Amino acid sequence: MSSSPFIIVAIDGGAASGKSSTSRAISERFNLLHVDTGSFYRAVTAELLARGVATGDQTAVKSAVALLTLSTRVIGRSAFMEIGGQVVPEARIRSAEVTAAVSHFAAIPELRAALLAYQRGQVDVARKNNFRGLVMEGRDIGSVIFPDADFRFFLHADPEERARRRAQQGQPDQIAERDRLDSQRKTAPLVLPSGATGIDSTYLTLEQVVEKISATLAARMNRHHDQLDMEPLYGVCHYILRQFYETFFRGEAIGLENIPSDGGFMIASNHASHLDPPVVGSLFSRQVCFFARKTLWKPGFATWWLNSVGTIPVDRDGGTDVTAIKRVLGALKKEKVIILFPEGTRSPDGKLQAAKPGVGLLACRTGVPVVPARIFGSFKAFGKDGKLRLGTPITVVFGQPLQPSEYDDPSVGKERYLLASQRIMAAISKLELPAPVIV
Ligand code: C5P
Repeated sequence: MSSSPFIIVAIDGGAASGKSSTSRAISERFNLLHVDTGSFYRAVTAELLARGVATGDQTAVKSAVALLTLSTRVIGRSAFMEIGGQVVPEARIRSAEVTAAVSHFAAIPELRAALLAYQRGQVDVARKNNFRGLVMEGRDIGSVIFPDADFRFFLHADPEERARRRAQQGQPDQIAERDRLDSQRKTAPLVLPSGATGIDSTYLTLEQVVEKISATLAARMNRHHDQLDMEPLYGVCHYILRQFYETFFRGEAIGLENIPSDGGFMIASNHASHLDPPVVGSLFSRQVCFFARKTLWKPGFATWWLNSVGTIPVDRDGGTDVTAIKRVLGALKKEKVIILFPEGTRSPDGKLQAAKPGVGLLACRTGVPVVPARIFGSFKAFGKDGKLRLGTPITVVFGQPLQPSEYDDPSVGKERYLLASQRIMAAISKLELPAPVIV
């Protein structure tokens, strides 16, 4: 599975071992769907209890489970189980009654079998919602659900430390009893799967655990990033521009880990200089498609060059140009990266401008993730006054990709595309340069 562009991260561990906070942070950082399978077992438990099914009545459990209609709702970056089209409320699934019963129900093979396909089906949910993969937490993810996951981790911590964490959350829990039941059951017990990476978090902060896992993920993904994937002429231009940028503008990129390594996506950036497209393009090891005004296609070298490096011609406000939209769709289908500037034109004073609807239209029509990027310093280096100031630092900060659910709201009608552009622009404006380190 490791050659697949879609990433599966399995995080197993006992009760209160830090799986949920860690998985949530990893999902944020790498744009993965967060799937808490414990919440699935809890939701089913709540439903069975509501139907008056007793934990010891295996036959009743079996027939009740067979009647459940399960589906998934994605809220933010997390998957929630729906039973009969309804999400079971958090307060209910975390209640003392459910916590006390869940491990008893979870030991019943028929119930586990019913949830197996549902859990594996989360891959489709993640793909449909344009996530780069999923991070699934539970007890048997690395051993049974996804034994060939790209990454498998097992978190543990001393029982005292885990009890302290639960007490801090204010949740009554029988950690030791649940772990005993979960480890001793016959079907899919809680085990450290062979080949999984064990992390003892007793003396680590949440951030340290997240860093450890992130470093493993990033190392593998960067290997992919390091392989140049571009046509020869583009590759030569890319090499020259990269050297130019590093030499004259001390090029720095922050947040490169936010960039999906596979699949089609858009980068939306502020625009203050002619340097912006080559600067951003030079940071990518994949070929990026640029847009340019149709008027630049002058006969001769300009036309040959623009076509050779795959530039897409657009009218001034590219959003209403049907041919351009078709070309964008075609490029994204071929899993290309598209760079767009929501402000439409260069900023006259280096400040961020209002967004135009064009980028929103393209994003909503294609439904791809949009990576916000903010370029700092390019206005000073080569702004609208036309003076080139070599030596000016230009830094590009990339944010986490926005999913369609975060920028597109089809219910707003006429203003839908403008709103999408504004949301994308708002994500760009939130990106900051990191504070200087004081030593
Ligand atoms: O993760 P959480 O503590 O919310 O899980 C609740 C219970 O669900 C666990 O104690 C375990 O009995 C069950 N479970 C399981 N297999 C999973 C996830 C949870 O048996 N993959």
